Amino acid sequence: MDEENWKQKYLASLDNLEKQEDKWQATEALLKQGLTRVALAAQGLNASLDDDLALLRKTLRKDIDLQQLEKVVSDLTQSVKRLDEHRGDKNTAHSPQELLTHWLDSLSFPAPLNARIKVLRQKIGVMHNLADMEVPLRELSELVNEALQHENAVSQHVTQNNKEQQGGGFFSRLFGSDTCSATDKPAVPQINEFCIQLLDTLSLPAELTDQVESLKDRFGEGLSDHSVAPALTAIANLISAMRRQMEEENKELQTFLHQLGDNLKEIDQNLSGAQSSHKASMDSGREFDAVVHAHVQDIQSKVEAAPESSQLKQQIQGRLDAIRKHLEQYRETEETRQQQLEIQLAHLNSRVHGMENEGEKLRQRLQEKHEQAVRDPLTGLYNRLAYDERVMQEFARWKRYGQSMVLMMIDVDHFKHVNDTYGHKAGDKALVLIADQLRNHLRESDFLARFGGEEFVVLMPETDIESAVAAAEKLRAAVEKCQFHYQNTQVSITFSAGIAQLRKNDNPESLFQRADEAMYRAKEAGRNQCLIETPS
Ligand code: GH3
Ligand code: MG
Ligand code: MG
Repeated sequence: MDEENWKQKYLASLDNLEKQEDKWQATEALLKQGLTRVALAAQGLNASLDDDLALLRKTLRKDIDLQQLEKVVSDLTQSVKRLDEHRGDKNTAHSPQELLTHWLDSLSFPAPLNARIKVLRQKIGVMHNLADMEVPLRELSELVNEALQHENAVSQHVTQNNKEQQGGGFFSRLFGSDTCSATDKPAVPQINEFCIQLLDTLSLPAELTDQVESLKDRFGEGLSDHSVAPALTAIANLISAMRRQMEEENKELQTFLHQLGDNLKEIDQNLSGAQSSHKASMDSGREFDAVVHAHVQDIQSKVEAAPESSQLKQQIQGRLDAIRKHLEQYRETEETRQQQLEIQLAHLNSRVHGMENEGEKLRQRLQEKHEQAVRDPLTGLYNRLAYDERVMQEFARWKRYGQSMVLMMIDVDHFKHVNDTYGHKAGDKALVLIADQLRNHLRESDFLARFGGEEFVVLMPETDIESAVAAAEKLRAAVEKCQFHYQNTQVSITFSAGIAQLRKNDNPESLFQRADEAMYRAKEAGRNQCLIETPS
């Protein structure tokens, strides 16, 4: 029957609408899940970013308020923008700043360059991060070139005798002569060593390892006076490459977050479109019900009051025609609305899927980047950045639960001698071997990092000082015993270590200082030994 038929169609259309609603809810859940995953993967890169990510995850746990979510995403974008200001601003044990200043101290530039040297020193003094080194290095390279030109010009007029009386001049200082080292400071390294040490302190990203290694090789073979300036420029170029890479990564992340913001806005619009469409559909359904109801009422009263059946038939026919017309109209508007809704939802779905894919790619890249950022490319151990993070975590845990925590500082003995005798490559191999020994002889719960150069640091949570000393002795014996051969020569390797335990009123720095001080006492006492901190 006709009436039964349209009623069913009407119910089916409502049913369809409900299904669309379910679909939207599933889409929303998918979007939430994708964002939560991205937020988790990006955690740990930067404290302020972490706060924003935590807020994002919190916002996602509740029912989505799109306006709030948009704000969180825009804050996130800002945090990411600020990321590069914080990256690489941690000085290493011998900071590049110290190295550069120390080396400049040892040179006597020709008098006409003094004013520029003074400016350069000021610039070095205010270097905050790795990227800041690029310009001073380029300037230093220019100054070295000019100093050499000056030296050449002077040497054409001055006799060799006179020159010696002047104290060796710029040229001999550049290549490290004993006479020029300041009395209270360690000997100044030769220029090629200086360049290698500079590279060692830089902790450049893993992608640049090959370039770093080939530069070290080049420097390791020695530098002539005219290759000094190009060497400094090469290091500056490396820093510039690193900065470009960081900027690109940041830009990518920012672009994604901007897109995310735009997509959220669009989803918001689509959603309110879908909602008003739903409301209109409900309203028109109700209106339609009322019209049909009125017609049916009318038919009923007409049937009751009709004197003759033929007149009744005519009236019924008229009413049924009217119902059919209404039904037709209703179906048409409903279908158009339905189609619009379908289009909106399909669009929404593809947007969300696109975002999910992008988010997944980003998540993977962030995970890789994070892993690279906290690893030392040479030994595969955690690096200083990872140590800084972990020591703060362990410190917070100690404050909360009060369990004992020990820090061990390890410094390889006479490592410069290994480099000087067997070359930098042998030094690198030895570092890898030492790292393996340390890793293999520590517990799972201990945290081992290469702190810088030939220095390692171990955090031992829930360990007392006696057990830490036993562990340190085990490590010391293992490294001493391990057979390091380089080109058929056995190279003996030992280390000295200092051990300190967290005390009341400590902070990570004071703990570190006590362990470092104990390590230096171990050096003074003859090296190849582990000493504990002085009692409080
Ligand atoms: P000490 O026993 O007093 O610690 O003497 P040392 O020679 O080990 O100490 P010093 O600090 O004078 O020298 C450390 C050396 O370690 C100098 C530096 O070139 C070298 N070094 C640092 N990082 C690396 C690296 O990544 N590879 C290599 N091959 N050598 C490195
Ligand atoms: Mg050292
Ligand atoms: Mg050492």
